[in-house]
Amino acid sequence: MKGIITEIERFSLRDGPGIRTTVFLKGCNMACKWCHNPETLQIKPQLMVYPEKCLGCGACVRVCPSGARTIKDGALHYSRAICTGCGACANDCFTGALILSGREMTVEEVMEEILQDRAYYKNSGGGVTLSGGELTTQPEFARALLETVKAEGISTALETNMHAPWHVYESLLPLVDLVMFDIKIFDCEAHRKWTGVSNERVLENARKLAKTGKDFLVRTPVIPGVNDSQEEIGNIAEFAGSLGGAQYYELLLFNPLGESKYQALQTDNHFEGASPSPVKTADRLKQIAEERSGMPVRVG
Ligand code: SF4
Ligand code: SF4
Repeated sequence: MKGIITEIERFSLRDGPGIRTTVFLKGCNMACKWCHNPETLQIKPQLMVYPEKCLGCGACVRVCPSGARTIKDGALHYSRAICTGCGACANDCFTGALILSGREMTVEEVMEEILQDRAYYKNSGGGVTLSGGELTTQPEFARALLETVKAEGISTALETNMHAPWHVYESLLPLVDLVMFDIKIFDCEAHRKWTGVSNERVLENARKLAKTGKDFLVRTPVIPGVNDSQEEIGNIAEFAGSLGGAQYYELLLFNPLGESKYQALQTDNHFEGASPSPVKTADRLKQIAEERSGMPVRVG
């Protein structure tokens, strides 16, 4: 069983309790315009190009089997349209100017990395988190990996947008200790505008998850000009509180670190130059969220 992975992050302290290894699966079923991991949106491998690191050695042109990298009039050219994402050029580019995002890995290969930190999971109350992208776009691989992690006695968590069909979650939940899911926008039409899909299934799945008794927490990325209003955050917080049983509600401030990735993928960045909401706004939203949810609220 193979999956497409963009990154395996060891010693993560952000993706659940304790020290964790987070496995980022490629592919997503939403298209959030603020995504700070744009390289995870498509499930296929993609070449990321950093021309400022290029020394002009021409190695990539010589190994490219599809003619996507060429030299014309002494200058390097790249055609993303005909690039197959084979990765041959990235393998031969010693300067880091070309990086292939997304590699096929077997469950065993991922486990090799996970098991290196087994002692840290045990001592810190941590474990393994599957994230993305959206991990449910590779449901068979996710299930196979979770089965193997659980068989090793390691705790598991999911970071999900809750937009997969419910039967996918039903197949994964017996193998999962904690579900961390997003409610990004409460207004249905605004959700469709900014993420490409309605939020109806997200909300329905959230209600179903809460009834299972599984440990979960709710999070909202706070995006300037999109959902950083008291009305939006208040409505989401109230819904999160109405589910009953969430550990806490978390506001995740906008992360501008994806800018260089948009440039490397040569794709438009709707939030170019944007900054996280000011501290005063974040404090006020936290206060509103506490009042409307009746739950502890964290800001991350
Ligand atoms: S292999 Fe790397 S450094 Fe050499 S020309 Fe290609 S992109 Fe530039
Ligand atoms: S990833 Fe493969 S097809 Fe694409 S430019 Fe590199 S060598 Fe050519």
